[in-house]
Amino acid sequence: MGIFKEYCCWRCGYKFTAFLGAGLSFPRLVFKRFEEMRTGRLGEEAKRFTEEHPDGWADCNKLLMRCVKCGEYDCRESLAMYVPKKSHAREFPERIWPKLARFMRILFGDPEKHCTKYADYRHKCKKCGGDMRTVSSRRIIRCPRCGFWMRRVDWGLWD
Ligand SMILES: [Zn+2]
Ligand SMILES: [Zn+2]
Repeated sequence: MGIFKEYCCWRCGYKFTAFLGAGLSFPRLVFKRFEEMRTGRLGEEAKRFTEEHPDGWADCNKLLMRCVKCGEYDCRESLAMYVPKKSHAREFPERIWPKLARFMRILFGDPEKHCTKYADYRHKCKKCGGDMRTVSSRRIIRCPRCGFWMRRVDWGLWD
């Protein structure tokens, strides 16, 4: 289940809603993204990853990210690429259900323990093309419009 947090700037009133984590469609998303990576829609590095590691997967948890150049916020799926230490995913998706519990534990629990990180996905800003960096949504965030502090005005579950 994912959570959302709505922020509002104290000064200019700019509002921003961050959708974080993963919804119930998470397992389906993992396969969808892997397929997109395989066909090259998500760039060369991701494509190479799927060729080298057909049993790998990309993390579809949504994270809050901020552009280092223009300060714009966006929520993106992490898409960090992982290779399982023991190959458990090879039978996906034909035999998903018997393995789902274990798979979910790995995805939501501690992927670093069960998998080796291949690479982080390089996210680009939609506005200016700058690099996006992950920021903690627990920290006070700055308004991308005026630079003042934003307060959290609402939060809840989104799926
Ligand atoms: Zn503002
Ligand atoms: Zn930018």
